[in-house]
Amino acid sequence: MRALKVLILEDDPFQLMALHQMLNANQVFDVMTADSVEAARQSLRNRGGVDIAICDLQMDGADGLELIRHLAQGGQARSLVILSHAAEGVREGVARLAFDQGLAVLGNLPKPATAAMLGDVLEAYERLEPVPEKDVLAPFCLEQLVAPANVQVESCVEQWIAYFQPKVNLKGDLLGVEALVRWQHPVQGLLAPGRFMSAIERAGFVVPLTWRVLEQALQMSAEVRYRQGEALPVAVNIAPQVLALEDFAPRVMALLARHELPASVLTLEILEHEALQPRAGQLEGLLRLRMQGCKLSIDDFGMGASNIHRLLQLPFSELKIPAEFVQGVADDPRQAAVVAGALFMARRLSMEVVVEGVETLDDFHSLLRLDVPAIQGYFIARPMCAADLLRWMSERKSCHSWPVVQENEPQDIPCSCR
Ligand code: C2E
Ligand code: MG
Ligand code: MG
Repeated sequence: MRALKVLILEDDPFQLMALHQMLNANQVFDVMTADSVEAARQSLRNRGGVDIAICDLQMDGADGLELIRHLAQGGQARSLVILSHAAEGVREGVARLAFDQGLAVLGNLPKPATAAMLGDVLEAYERLEPVPEKDVLAPFCLEQLVAPANVQVESCVEQWIAYFQPKVNLKGDLLGVEALVRWQHPVQGLLAPGRFMSAIERAGFVVPLTWRVLEQALQMSAEVRYRQGEALPVAVNIAPQVLALEDFAPRVMALLARHELPASVLTLEILEHEALQPRAGQLEGLLRLRMQGCKLSIDDFGMGASNIHRLLQLPFSELKIPAEFVQGVADDPRQAAVVAGALFMARRLSMEVVVEGVETLDDFHSLLRLDVPAIQGYFIARPMCAADLLRWMSERKSCHSWPVVQENEPQDIPCSCR
């Protein structure tokens, strides 16, 4: 017998009974049934949350969407199955909404459900992973990271370390790396940007952090040239306040010159959260960097202010398609259409494309079919420190095989040179 607790919201008594029986036939006996949203809420109040909620969408009075919001906000269900006569596009929209609200969506099914469908759903529940710890870690405020008497940029800059994540083509050839900052904190340990970038922004430290990462990225590129004869292309994330610096372009060129690197090794990934009108001076600086050979990438294309309008405002040469459009692309033809559309547009604009967040073999196969030029993601490698990247590169050279990420590997591979 499965120790699962399931709630069914269904206003058709015949369907409700059939579902109940199918669950019993699958050894699920702890079943709460409700023919209205109010009855479902009452059951949840009386008997507590459930592992799986099976939700019809259209009903008289409050509808399934209301129950889904209630389940998500109150943490009353771990996972959801949508079962409805609604059109597929509507059901998919609801699935996405539920996912964004934190519910694991096990199935998005047309009525009537069959025993086989329900069996698949229960199997999908068994494959759910425990909530990863990283998702429940809250961002720090600066005072938790730097002693209040010591909030000087000098006291932390040495602790900001560039990690590097490879980008490869579909044959597995290394095309370059993206530098991703980590805070090697003396007390809190190795922190990913999600835990400290907002504090950095509030403290006005984004500019020194960016110069630190740029410096380490170019150092890495020069180190690879020293070892292998050819510089490694590197991409660095650039926030809008850094772009707004009057001397941004000449300082970047001076850094490249100090490392004796051609501008073509550097890609600036522009991060846009708000729509900003680029100033003439800023645009001039970016155009100058482009003319010298630097590449300019629009990061997280399609999210926030990284939109088509932005694409036409700045002289971008690369477009990065974010994980949100990629993960699950194998199972969702609409996601595949979005990625294919972005690829088509980029080709017409003679832009490079990098697809981020490629985690699974299935997603990788789908991208193969779409003939994506460059991919980045845990399927290839996680971000790693400079020493580990050099080791990773030399190991690949000797074995020529696709490295596959181990399951349950930590978010970042702890730096092995420490
Ligand atoms: P981003 O520039 O879009 O970087 C991609 C993020 O996706 C990275 O997160 C990377 O570790 C993560 N990632 C890569 N492959 C996968 C995958 O297969 N699955 C999943 N789920 N995630 C994957 P990270 O390193 O935590 O960085 C988050 C964001 O922080 C970056 O997003 C960027 O916006 C910002 N950031 C990172 N480094 C810097 C920096 O030096 N300066 C600035 N201003 N922002 C930075
Ligand atoms: Mg980026
Ligand atoms: Mg990105």
